[in-house]
Amino acid sequence: MKRVIGGVDMSQKALVAWAMPELGKEVLSKARVEIVPLHGPKGQLPAREELIEALKDVHVLISRAILPVPREVIMANSRLLGISNYGVGYDNIDITCATELGIPVTNTPEVLTETTADLAWALLMATARKVPQAHHFTVSGQWEGPVGETLMGMDIGPGGSNRRKVLGIIGFGRIGQTVMRRSRGFKMKVVAYDPFLRETIEGMKGVEYRELDDLLRESDFVTLHCPLTDQTQHLIGRRELDLMKPTAILINTSRGPVVDEGSLVSALKKGSIKGAGLDVYEKEPRISPDLLKLDNVVLLPHIGSATKDTRVQMAVVAAKNAVTLLRGKRPAHVVNPQAFESPEYLRKLKDI
Ligand code: NAD
Repeated sequence: MKRVIGGVDMSQKALVAWAMPELGKEVLSKARVEIVPLHGPKGQLPAREELIEALKDVHVLISRAILPVPREVIMANSRLLGISNYGVGYDNIDITCATELGIPVTNTPEVLTETTADLAWALLMATARKVPQAHHFTVSGQWEGPVGETLMGMDIGPGGSNRRKVLGIIGFGRIGQTVMRRSRGFKMKVVAYDPFLRETIEGMKGVEYRELDDLLRESDFVTLHCPLTDQTQHLIGRRELDLMKPTAILINTSRGPVVDEGSLVSALKKGSIKGAGLDVYEKEPRISPDLLKLDNVVLLPHIGSATKDTRVQMAVVAAKNAVTLLRGKRPAHVVNPQAFESPEYLRKLKDI
């Protein structure tokens, strides 16, 4: 039921299913949107049943990329005016179901591109030069003289061999291209695989197109920047890992299920690749116990976009997207624009 005060509809509610930074909340409050918070004291995500229950009484859901929003959840409220996802990836949401029900879904691209590329690059360097292993060696008091073979790393720049290293980028979108920029100072040769951007890559300077298998055979470093889709699930499995050089390093800051984690563990154990730097996992926050035991990995807890400035901006964008959805308008970053044309959506507009 509408509650109009001073010409403003006060009845619009946003379910915020994570600990949103203050600036994001301010955007909602200034727009007179009631915030319905749903998370644990440390920002823990709600259980599915709680989410379903809370969703029944709101107009928009502000979710985050690590919160599963499957069909079962979305069906709890087909009258939703939209789902605003905090994050660029939206594989956590059943987009088909949202579109069927006339529920537009938005994301927060661009604001996190540089930050995530920084993290991918940090992971690449840390894995190649065994930075966490060396830190542990130092602080645990093991440094008593020359360090020997165990902390010898891989060159990223031309190094002693004076051979330019090959960086293979899979998924040449915003983050992939931004990672390429970081490689410039290291004089790397860059190859890229992205079936949707083949012509763009072929027309660009400083990068050569490769089919996936060729990229895997040629690269010293393979870095993943594609979204998780039906086509990219286990894009890197046993066959692909076997194609990589035994000296190669795999970096994953995209989504865990893009890599078959079991096959990766086997490849790292038997030495069919040299190392891996991972920010994301197949069943995070759970990590395969075998992966945790390996010494040729660097493992991070999904912190690709985790800087204060970037997270605040992501929250502001997510909040603005939510407000625009509540006004029945089109935000800038809609992942399923077809939803706006559906009769279900047009029917909802009449009630705004
Ligand atoms: P983007 O859409 O700009 O780029 C993705 C690229 O992948 C596109 O160019 C697309 O054509 C390509 N692609 C799609 N299917 C492919 C396939 N089968 N093989 C190869 N390439 C394919 O997205 P972006 O902003 O660069 O973000 C990329 C992904 O990074 C996001 O979808 C998200 O999952 C992930 N991400 C992770 C973190 C983190 O915290 N670790 C942070 C931000 C983004």
